[in-house]
Amino acid sequence: MVATETIATDRPAISIALAGNPNAGKSTLFNTLTGSRQHVGNWPGKTVERKTGELVHNGRRVVITDLPGAYSLSAYTQEESITRDFLLAERPDVVVAVVDAANLERNLYFVVQLLEFETPAVIVLNMMDVASRRGLTFDLGKLSQALGSPVVPTIARNEDGLDEVMSAAVGAASLSSQLFALDYGPEIEGEIDRLLPEIERHPAVTDQYPARWLAVRLLEDEPDIASRLSRLPGGAGLVDLAEKSRMQLSQALGEDVDLVIADRRYTWIHQLVARVLRTEREESISFSDRIDHIITSRWLGIPIFMIAMWVVFKITTDVSAPWVDWIDGVLSGPISRWTLVLLSAAGLGESWIASLLVDGVIAGVGGVLAFVPVLLSLYFALAVLEDSGYMARGAFVMDRLMNRIGLHGRSFLPLMVGFGCSVPAIYATRTLTNQRDRILTGLLVPFMSCGARLPVYVLFTAIFFPAQASLIIMGLYLLGILVAILVGLVLQRTLLPATAAPGLVMELPPYRLPNARSIRYQMWLRTRAFLQHAASLILLASLAIWLLMAVPMGGQGKFADTPVENSVFARISGMTALALRPLGFGTWQSGGALISGLVAKEVVISTLGQTFGAEIELAEGVGGSFLADLGEIATSFVAAVGDTLRALPGIVGINLGGEKGAAAPGLAMAIRNSFDTSSGGHANAAGLAFMVFVLLYTPCMATIAAEKHELGTRWALSSFFGQLIIAWLAAFAVFRIAAWLGG
Ligand code: GDP
Ligand code: MG
Repeated sequence: MVATETIATDRPAISIALAGNPNAGKSTLFNTLTGSRQHVGNWPGKTVERKTGELVHNGRRVVITDLPGAYSLSAYTQEESITRDFLLAERPDVVVAVVDAANLERNLYFVVQLLEFETPAVIVLNMMDVASRRGLTFDLGKLSQALGSPVVPTIARNEDGLDEVMSAAVGAASLSSQLFALDYGPEIEGEIDRLLPEIERHPAVTDQYPARWLAVRLLEDEPDIASRLSRLPGGAGLVDLAEKSRMQLSQALGEDVDLVIADRRYTWIHQLVARVLRTEREESISFSDRIDHIITSRWLGIPIFMIAMWVVFKITTDVSAPWVDWIDGVLSGPISRWTLVLLSAAGLGESWIASLLVDGVIAGVGGVLAFVPVLLSLYFALAVLEDSGYMARGAFVMDRLMNRIGLHGRSFLPLMVGFGCSVPAIYATRTLTNQRDRILTGLLVPFMSCGARLPVYVLFTAIFFPAQASLIIMGLYLLGILVAILVGLVLQRTLLPATAAPGLVMELPPYRLPNARSIRYQMWLRTRAFLQHAASLILLASLAIWLLMAVPMGGQGKFADTPVENSVFARISGMTALALRPLGFGTWQSGGALISGLVAKEVVISTLGQTFGAEIELAEGVGGSFLADLGEIATSFVAAVGDTLRALPGIVGINLGGEKGAAAPGLAMAIRNSFDTSSGGHANAAGLAFMVFVLLYTPCMATIAAEKHELGTRWALSSFFGQLIIAWLAAFAVFRIAAWLGG
């Protein structure tokens, strides 16, 4: 359909910004309008998602930006300042303000501030289905007249009214900017009138800011507006003038000016809504109120929440596990075999190229792809929780508890997911609404002992504490939580003090049936973002380890065919052994295992096996035919489907499955002897310290990549080095104390 339209390329594209409260339906509108012609990135220097998309409407090219959801435009939160700065700097041709019709009054608070930007606007009254089910009717004409902009009713989820939105927006783009002036009362209007001519004398200022908008902002004393203005020619004088006006005003009004301004806005909106909104029937206690009564009740709230979290946890771990195995099996089986066959045909079967491709590249790609099923299932679970409206209830229930350790109720979910895998857990911090909470939660996630660390505990308790294995493993999990609480408390008192969100009450969005289309979008776009951002780092790290193992030390072997103990890897590991000596496991084998654990924690054991020269079964290529291989891919796929289905009852907590991972006896002996020597006879203490170190030290590269993407480079580096230090100190203490107790 698009292809047959003639696109007027001679006219510039119209730029449209979608803005509004969270959950008003912006993204639904955006996705439906732009389909797959989307680009997802981050706002420059921010960790908030930036989505732009394109479409053609009546032959005009239109570029749409989905702005982050915000409750006001006072720039107290990152979302608010992104929205504000976008409107100021990029000057879109039209702002489409998406409003939840069922919550008109609250949504208008944001709209009114948006209109003050003097950009042509279209008001989209979305969720008309919900509104009419509640018996609400609107006088659209009056509303449009009062706001000075067209108002279009829609049901975005059913794609109802979207064409009208585009027509109104394209129409509005050709209008000159509209002045929307809310009457703030004689005292404030008097000061605005005094400031306006002063502002208008400075073209450098009016170039960047709408004059009346700036006057109001200055009287409100909005954060960072004064400092930005001072940098413009003539700006400092204006800041002084406004300062005087504000002083006089607060004297005359007997209250802070920003409070009076906010109050006037609320009053104006309240009166407007009273004129345009009719409620047909008396609203009885609604169905959703009754459900809320149970779900957020004192006794059932937390158990229900725990069950919901358990389900999310099971979905991200158990349901994805067969698929991770399948990807792993296909890559290390058929794909590796085919590569070798092709290389042999080219006479390169035994060369370093074969080793690079199979042990380096294919293994590295496997490390990246293994996260795809995990992330897809996490995003599925998150989208369902968020879209159904349960997430807000769960957060509400947990809030009091989590507040004690300075976190938001919503932080519980990422931390919980962290017991499965830190990578999706870091991405799950997106569900938190402010940056500081995201960072703090993200930094604490790696202390939740992830699934990949469990095999290390299983092996080491089997070697050192066969009688108390489960007790010790549980103790490690608890230690992780304890350290997280301590680190959280320290960070709150130092780098990440709690920010009081001014007057923001948590409100519960209505229950909705999750929308398949929106879930699909969220699952795919976010997983794709992970692949784009993390793939290169994980791949590079695996290649680096491969290279270090391939290069022989001092000419004692052939490239890519070196025994590990003669490789550069062994030499570097030997250097780390020095730092590990006070912890009781200062050997190059331990050092090497921990270094390769930086790529992925599950590699720790296989590296130990390799470096101790123990026989760990290496999947022997059965050397089947091409067709047999295809058959194997298919049957293992079917098996994965079967396993997924079988995992489903497990979600409700029915079976936990057995732990595998009994060690080869040779390896156990070798590790025990090595630890005994390196610790001066305190092998058990050293074994315990090693587990504590594995629990706490630097998370794997995929997690670091996720942290870099979500929290920024600085915090990713803090996590890298901070955890290394914490792990060293904790392992040191554990080793000393345990050795002293006679371990
Ligand atoms: P955003 O936060 O503004 O981007 O809101 P979303 O687009 O993510 O929408 C929030 C939820 O509202 C999603 O579950 C949508 O499926 C749902 N939704 C969007 N538009 C409508 C609508 O017109 N009617 C109803 N009933 N639900 C809608
Ligand atoms: Mg959205």
